[in-house]
Formats: sequence, C-alpha cells, structure tokens
Amino acid sequence: CLLQRGVQYPVRPCFACSAWSGFGELIQGAEWLQNFGKGNRRGTPPPPPPALSCPGAAFCLTAVYLETYGCQMNVNDTEIAWAILQKSGYLRTHRLEEADVILLVTCSIREKAEQAIWNRLRHLTALKSKRLRSQAPLRIGILGCMAERLKEEILHKEKLVDIVAGPDAYRDLPRLLAVAESGQQAANVLLSLDETYADVLPVQTSPDATSAFVSIMRGCDNMCSYCIVPFTRGRERSRPLASILQEVKMLSDQGVKEVTLLGQNVNSFRDTSEVQFRSAAAPGLSRGFSTIYRAKEGGLRFAHLLDQASRVDPEMRIRFTSPHPKDFPDEVLQLVQDRHNICKQLHLPAQSGSSRVLEAMRRGYTREAYLELVQRVRDSIPGVSLSSDFIAGFCGETEDDHQQTVSLLRQVRYNVGFLFAYSMRQKTRAYHRLQDDVPAEVKRRRLEELISVFREEASRANGAMVGRSQLVLVEGPSKRSAAELCGRNDGNIRVVFPDTEMEDGTGSGAVVRAQPGDYVLVKVTSASSQTLKGVLLRRTSLRESAAHR
Ligand code: SAM
Ligand code: SF4
Repeated sequence: CLLQRGVQYPVRPCFACSAWSGFGELIQGAEWLQNFGKGNRRGTPPPPPPALSCPGAAFCLTAVYLETYGCQMNVNDTEIAWAILQKSGYLRTHRLEEADVILLVTCSIREKAEQAIWNRLRHLTALKSKRLRSQAPLRIGILGCMAERLKEEILHKEKLVDIVAGPDAYRDLPRLLAVAESGQQAANVLLSLDETYADVLPVQTSPDATSAFVSIMRGCDNMCSYCIVPFTRGRERSRPLASILQEVKMLSDQGVKEVTLLGQNVNSFRDTSEVQFRSAAAPGLSRGFSTIYRAKEGGLRFAHLLDQASRVDPEMRIRFTSPHPKDFPDEVLQLVQDRHNICKQLHLPAQSGSSRVLEAMRRGYTREAYLELVQRVRDSIPGVSLSSDFIAGFCGETEDDHQQTVSLLRQVRYNVGFLFAYSMRQKTRAYHRLQDDVPAEVKRRRLEELISVFREEASRANGAMVGRSQLVLVEGPSKRSAAELCGRNDGNIRVVFPDTEMEDGTGSGAVVRAQPGDYVLVKVTSASSQTLKGVLLRRTSLRESAAHR
C-alpha cells in the first residue's frame, strides 16, 4: 500500500504516458517533497525533483497554478493557500499550460475587479474544454472574496468552476480538491470567528524577495456603508502576538529586510488569546473621532505589537497597512517616531473631504477631525510620508462635496494616493439605504480631476526631496533598464538609480555594487508624482543611517 510506504500526496498514473512505475522512485519523490517543503525562502534552491517528466515518469503530482487579484491581503492569502496545498503534496507551477488545477484568489471590492475575474473564468473554461481526452481534466477554483459573495452564481448558474473556497476555508482546500478530482463540484464558504491561519507559515511567491507581508488580523467590524469587506471577510479577529513575532523572526533569519504588517483594519489589532491579556485597558480613539460601535475592552493592542515587532531585528524595516484613521492613539504615533526601523510612512484613508459624505459613508470622523489628525501626525513625526484612499462619486455626492475632496487633496499634499470611482455593492448599507445617483460619466470626470490634483500635489511633495539623500532598500534591477536599480525609500516611494560602483560603507575605501537587500543612500536628482530618480552615494545600514538623521 502506498500510504504505508509514507506517500501522503496525491499520486496518480501519468496522464501523458499512463504509467505507474517503481515504488522506489515514489518514495524518493516523497523525500524530495519533504525537503522542498522545508525549503528556505532565501536559501539555496531545492534540487530538481526526481523523474518528474514524461515519458516513463514514476508518478505525476497534481500541479497547481495560482493567480492573484486585488489587495496585498490577497497576495498573502495566496501564500497561505499555497502553504496548505504544498504540505498536502501538491506541486506549484507558474505555467498555465502545465496546470492540473487553476486557482484564482479573487477580489470583490469593486464591480470592475469582479468583471476582470468573470472574463478570466470564461477564458479558462474555454481552455478546459480544449483539454485532450488523454489528459487529466483541468479543475478550476475560485478562492477568496468573490467565492464568498457569489457562491451560488459561480457554482450553479454559470457552472464555470469545480471548487469554491471562501477566505476562511483555505485549510479545507485539500479536501475540496479531492472532491473535485472525483468529478463533483466542491464548496466551503463558511466564515469563521477565530480563523487567523496563525500556524500556517506562508510560502512566499518570490523566494528572493527582500520584503514580505505578515498578516496580523483578518476581517473588519467597521461597516463603512459602501464596503463589501465585512461581508466577504467576516468579523474582525487578531492573530496571537507570539505567532506573529515568530514569523517576523523567521523572515529576519531568512534575510528578509522589510515586513509589512497586514490587515483590513490593522491598527485595531487586539490579541485576546492569552488569559492574562484580557484585563488590559482599551486605548482611546484618535482625538476627535467617534465610533458607532461599542468599545472593545482588553487584549494586547497594536502599539504593543508594533513595539515588539520592531525589536525583532534592528536592521528590518516595519510598515503596516491598511489602518483606519480612528485608531491612531498618541502612543502609536510616538512609537513610529521613536523607532528607527518603523517607517515614517502612514496610510490615512480619508475617502472624502466632505463631512456630509463622510457621515453617509459612516466613517466616524469629520473633515475637521481628519485634518486635526493629519496635523498631529505631522507634529509627532516630522517629514512623515502620507498616503490615502479616496472614492469619487459616492451616493449623494454633490459638486460642492467633490470640490471639498479636491481641497483636502491640495491641503494635505499626499505622497501616495489610491483613487477609485464609487461602485455600488450588494448587501452594503449604501445598497439598501442610499441611491447610487451620481451618473457614471460624472464619477469618471470627478475621478480624473482627483487623480490630476493628486499627481500635481504629489509631484510637489516628492519634489521637496530633490537634492536630499534618501535611505533606500534595494529591490533589484529596474523594469525599464538593466543598467538601473530600483528600491523604495522610507516613505514607500519608488527610487530608481544607475547601477554604479559605490563605497562599501565601512570607511575602508573599498567599492562594491549594490545588491538586492542592501540599504543604500541615494541622492535625489529629480522627482515625479510616483518616482524619485537619483545617484548612488554609498552602502549603509538602518542603524547607521538613523544615527546621522
Ligand atoms: N480598511 C481600509 C480602510 O478603512 O480604509 C480599506 C480597505 S478597502 C479594501 C480599500 C479601499 O477600497 C477603500 O479604502 C476604499 O477607498 C475602496 N473601496 C471600498 N469599497 C469601495 C466601493 N464600493 N467603491 C469604490 N471603492 C471602494
Ligand atoms: Fe471596508 Fe471600512 Fe472595513 Fe476599510 S474599515 S475594510 S473601508 S468596512
């Protein structure tokens, strides 16, 4: 029996040569898989698998192709889903034509995002029907937010997919795939009150990456009136602090230089996993902010997590996204200012500059309170880089409301912006209570205006860096030219510079070339709304650079 011989992964006859062959090679394959499973993200690559190609292959493993849509949470979810499948013996392929299973990790936040996925699904279904009879049938799965929102439609009406798994059902993927293998459709869209995948260490998509995402909480309890997230990702729950710190440490040991703490509402983190944490007092909201929800008492809070995470490795940068402006007590701002390795970069999603629209959105703050927060952030963290999200054309938005958003953009002068046209989502409060009454062409015109004002102001904000040196974490060659490198500064702005020799930073006079994962000083020579260009000065470290700040 194969199972008695320790083969715990899906094994089937090769679809190309239809052969089963020696058990010896199967066991060898199992050993390779185990080693590969333990593989270091940044270490030496695993040896090639034994006898995986046809003809005469000893066995064929099920090859999974994963495609990600939407936000960083989905990038992280892809890594979690893959970690679970890898442990169950699946093989990952990055070539669509090699796939036995195609899984799309989906996004529902706007109509446009869903439309792109529907189009892709139709294309994949056509691919599926073209599979040769001699080949194993292609299985297609939808994971994440769209699976949660549209299970019935995807499975029954359109009959496009074999597997449907919501954001809290990734542990069930091996079973769902096994059901699909038998020719039936399989679905699990149960939302959980406590699933955080705390024990699943995600396998990074790019093993040489200098940065990584670490999920610290899931779901959202805020119920902004336009937003589908609370319905697709469920209630807010935080991952136990110890497991987060363990993952950050592991990434540091693997040479990762930058970690972004991730969550839909990252700064409302509240770890209640340990009994002794339950008595901790609740921190206040940002000054001038209110919430319609009952304050949650107890648990370890975001400031504590930030403090601990920044202590793991003084040469590792820490960022976090996406926060809600209401959860910025002074202690968080103080910590960002005090710690040399917490990036001086905050995302403060405003959504609108009109208090009337903000109320309809149920954001819990007015324009004035938001601007006070911006001032407090700037006073506490001099030189901070700010980013924001805005929605153009929300229900009932007048031209005057829109102009208030334009003026907020001018007043705050963000470095980075994410701007969207409003897209009505079923189930939300706006869907039930408000009217999507701004015509599409008006939404589009307002959005274009916001983008143009944002770019103008961001060019000015970034232009202020010309002539100054920036601490940059090198990511690798720039996309446009092999003679240039690119990386990000502390404010998360892309910096591009020629790949020239530089001082090695030890004071010995030696010269070196910058490598991915190096911190370097770059003198900025020009700036646009999205990119800084500059020249390399020398290699440095986070601590050294902070000492000279
Ligand atoms: N939790 C974060 C916050 O409170 O800002 C945002 C997470 S959401 C995934 C990202 C952004 O998508 C939001 O900030 C908002 O600007 C935008 N968004 C959400 N729902 C939207 C909708 N129905 N139409 C257009 N944009 C939307
Ligand atoms: Fe959506 Fe609001 Fe939650 Fe952000 S805070 S995920 S916008 S409901």
